[in-house]
Amino acid sequence: MIKLKGLRKKFKDQYVLNGIDLDIEQGEIVVIIGPSGTGKSTLLRCVNFLEQPTEGEITVGDLTVDFCKASKKDILELRRRTAFVFQNYALFANKSALDNIAERLIVVDRWPKQKAHDKAREILKRIGMEEKAESYPAALSGGQQQRVGIGRAMATGAEVILFDEPTSSLDPEWVDEVLALMKQLARERQTMLVVTHEMSFARDVADRVIFIDGGRIVEQGPPSEFFSNPQDPRTRDFLKKIL
Ligand code: ADP
Ligand code: MG
Repeated sequence: MIKLKGLRKKFKDQYVLNGIDLDIEQGEIVVIIGPSGTGKSTLLRCVNFLEQPTEGEITVGDLTVDFCKASKKDILELRRRTAFVFQNYALFANKSALDNIAERLIVVDRWPKQKAHDKAREILKRIGMEEKAESYPAALSGGQQQRVGIGRAMATGAEVILFDEPTSSLDPEWVDEVLALMKQLARERQTMLVVTHEMSFARDVADRVIFIDGGRIVEQGPPSEFFSNPQDPRTRDFLKKIL
């Protein structure tokens, strides 16, 4: 359902991603871990064309795009099929929770305003924030802001949601409510690609854990095997440091 082939990305003369091949099934929950500066964010950003990849090919559903030959229309369509949840929430400060969720539906997906607002209300209900519809981000806790960030991604009906360290900016007290919402999505079999340092989430929720180092996939497997019996020395080293 989403497939990356030979994804490479360089900044200046330096390759940050060195040939990533990845196949994700519909409904699969994939967690990506790895040292800092190793290309995890760049990988997610390439999928969404927040960065222009240097080489490779992507398939999402029935759409296959060569990164080098992508047209404006391809890029828009890929963005429509994927949604991004940012570490720092990236909400519009001057828009209410409701408008933050409705905005993309109106601007990117060209929904009429009323339909977008109805959808946004339905989503606010699903994320338990109905009563905060008219609140601006500054009046929300970090956890509530990130739930709106996730709600915005949910509203789009995207085929895959990309999470880039969604709990890393949160005060510890808000982490659980955000993870709980992500677990709810996982139970609904929303296809998810999640970069996180939350190893308990990886253990409990992921179908597959992928370890990236130096812009390559070093090792991957179901969490039960991955954590109990890592094969590569780099994986073992990393796990020793963070567990
Ligand atoms: P991670 O998310 O795994 O911590 P990133 O994908 O953010 O790593 O970054 C990987 C490498 O690419 C880092 O060395 C970073 O400095 C570099 N990098 C990321 N974005 C840019 C950019 N826009 N311009 C130049 N270098 C970048
Ligand atoms: Mg990152």
